[in-house]
Amino acid sequence: MKQIPKKVAILGCGFGGMYTAKRLLPYVQSGHIDLSIVNATNYFLFTPLLHEVATGGLSPTSVVESIRDIFGKYPVTIYEDIPESIDTQKKNINLGERILSYDYLVIATGAETHYYNTPGAKQFGLPLKSIDDANKIKNTIIENFEAAARTQDADERKALLSFVIVGGGATGVEFAAELPQFCTLLLKRYFKYSSIAAADITIKLITAGPELLSHFAPALRTKVMSHLAAQGVHVHLGMPIAKVTATGVQAKDGTEIISKNVFWLAGVKPVTLPFSDNTQIALSPSGRLETDAYLRVVGHTNIFAFGDMASTQDKDKKELPMLAQVAAAQAPIVAHNIIAAIQNKPFKMCVFKNKGSMISLGQWFAVGEIYSINIAGKFAWWIWRTVYLFKFPSWRKRFAIAAEWTANLFYPRDIAKSR
Ligand SMILES: Cc1cc2nc3c(=O)[nH]c(=O)nc-3n(C[C@H](O)[C@H](O)[C@H](O)COP(=O)(O)OP(=O)(O)OC[C@H]3O[C@@H](n4cnc5c(N)ncnc54)[C@H](O)[C@@H]3O)c2cc1C
Repeated sequence: MKQIPKKVAILGCGFGGMYTAKRLLPYVQSGHIDLSIVNATNYFLFTPLLHEVATGGLSPTSVVESIRDIFGKYPVTIYEDIPESIDTQKKNINLGERILSYDYLVIATGAETHYYNTPGAKQFGLPLKSIDDANKIKNTIIENFEAAARTQDADERKALLSFVIVGGGATGVEFAAELPQFCTLLLKRYFKYSSIAAADITIKLITAGPELLSHFAPALRTKVMSHLAAQGVHVHLGMPIAKVTATGVQAKDGTEIISKNVFWLAGVKPVTLPFSDNTQIALSPSGRLETDAYLRVVGHTNIFAFGDMASTQDKDKKELPMLAQVAAAQAPIVAHNIIAAIQNKPFKMCVFKNKGSMISLGQWFAVGEIYSINIAGKFAWWIWRTVYLFKFPSWRKRFAIAAEWTANLFYPRDIAKSR
């Protein structure tokens, strides 16, 4: 007798969801699984390269990959949608026009920008979490250069060319290191004959914490600080922001910084999902779905959650960090455990082994730790690029990005505004 396939629904097709779906494909093809993917956009977004899109180094289309391009040749049902509600007792997802039922649900909807209830941050700060965000940042920088070139008012020019980055984590630091190179290009090549002088441009990186990149070894943090200083980035440590306004930021200690460009890169929080009232879901203090060591949502043996969305503890009882590396490492475990559940086989535990982390600091410089060895400089930058290139799902995008990076060595960045 032919086996009835089990319905598996994956919510979110980012690093976690996409890699889980890939692992399940053999079972889809053999008819054991009926797989559906629901994602807010029709593409997978490679977030680690967003800062390069925001500063003209890569085009927006290079860092996304259509979900149909990845899965369209398989019998997978794909919905570009956001659930209206999820009923864990009836085991279904309400997508408005249709109800999607499931036997196993995978939640990998990731995170969204966290404003920490800071007044004005959402209204006036520019986040960097989506392609639209990256385009908006790039367009704002270019528009403000244009306005600065037009104005006769020196104070206004300085405000238009004052760049404030809030957030001392990897995203804030990577963006802060990339920005001076973009501004220098704009100034020296595209606004060479304008009234803008180098001294009009200021870049400040502000963090509430006592240091940047707290997860890095002190020696690497020192390297990062001196690299940023050499690029002309002023770093303000221990300066929590009280509010963001149309004219800049005000710190809790009363310091005011005038700026027409406030980039809010201060962190993320898990996406809130619309579970039905009858659903009991345990959340960690950080708002992530609590899971057991097998990545099942606590109290729900048929629901798996991981990546930025979920709180899974390491051996020291600390929450695993919100990193692509974590989500990608958890994906095969989730796929294995779904198959194990279907076939009544033993589950695998999530034991995350940190291989290290790296950040790029503009062209030709990166720092990081790989298997506890600190590296910095051009070679680190080359490794960083190579590693990221191979994280893309398709060769098509790998070639496209490699081609753009190569072109960037010979030609200036693209300053056409993006929509
Ligand atoms: C600018 C930036 C740079 C980063 N750089 C690095 C880095 O260098 N290295 C690193 O390890 N990590 C980095 N990260 C973190 C990394 O992106 C995340 O940890 C990783 O993407 C988490 O994977 P995920 O599958 O949990 O979520 P995501 O990859 O974010 O995927 C979530 C998916 O769910 C979809 N979605 C969201 N809400 C809904 C909904 N309600 N319904 C349906 N679909 C939904 C989204 O469209 C998305 O496709 C960076 C993050 C940012 C923002």
